[in-house]
Amino acid sequence: MDTTSFTKKSIGGTTTMEPALTPPPIAHTQTTFAKKPSLGAIKSKSKKRDIPEGLWVKCPACETMIFDKELDENLKVCSKCNHHFPIGSRERIHSLVETCTFEEMDASMTSVDMLNFKGVATYKSKLEAYKKNTMLKDAVVTGLCKIGEHRAALGVMDFNFLGGSMGSVVGEKLTRLIERGTEKGWPVIIISTSGGARMYEGMFSLMQMAKTSAALAYHAQKRLPYISVLTHPTTAGVMASYASLGDLILAEPGAMIGFAGPRVIKDTTQAELPPGFQTAEFLLDHGLIDAIVPRKEMKSQLIAHLNFLTAGKKTAAAA
Ligand SMILES: [Zn+2]
Repeated sequence: MDTTSFTKKSIGGTTTMEPALTPPPIAHTQTTFAKKPSLGAIKSKSKKRDIPEGLWVKCPACETMIFDKELDENLKVCSKCNHHFPIGSRERIHSLVETCTFEEMDASMTSVDMLNFKGVATYKSKLEAYKKNTMLKDAVVTGLCKIGEHRAALGVMDFNFLGGSMGSVVGEKLTRLIERGTEKGWPVIIISTSGGARMYEGMFSLMQMAKTSAALAYHAQKRLPYISVLTHPTTAGVMASYASLGDLILAEPGAMIGFAGPRVIKDTTQAELPPGFQTAEFLLDHGLIDAIVPRKEMKSQLIAHLNFLTAGKKTAAAA
């Protein structure tokens, strides 16, 4: 009987359609299904009239509808629950560096289909499609910039380009960036987001882990700082190389950080995973990262950390 009263309520205005008799239990579902589409159609029609499509985004965390422009102005952070939406590399650079100080490096470097990879689609066709849709050449943008008073070498990954996967271009661009930072005696900052190595490039992709790590080792030998910022998600080959090598490792709130996915780990270890496993908050508690920094505070925090990390150098230069 409960179900019957629920059905009555849900059809609200269309009471005339209601059968006089309580329908038998099997017919319940049929009645609900038969009437729902007409209600849905009315609802969606009125919604379409009021709200133009594509202007509102539903927050996946608190389900609030957020006006697109408001979300952009808030650096893609939900103002209700502080959920951090993904943000493109260009927008992120804009939010961090001083106006007009970003000099991009290797802007035209693109991947070559060395393995002649053919899957459901060829690697070549994938690259072309992503270049067209994202207006990017690959999954990282690198360059020299000024953040506060500090000159720095900055690399920002973009998840929109093939899941931020690390192929030979990502590895090469980051290595050149690190080497330039070392050469100039500037700090290096890399903001990561990645699903890991790019399978279309096989071993060439895995080699980038060693290459970027070696460049960072030379950078460290010169006693120059490297700050790694982990954003949602940073996993696999990227996390297992340069992303976890920072003198300081910062992360955005709620970011998923790890090597293999939770399902793989669960299947391999046959153990229950603790709550919050692989989140930035969990890893802060366990000492893998140094701080969680909300996106809106990232610039000021980076400046504060750079002040601290380069203080010794300034004193030595003054003496
Ligand atoms: Zn929210």
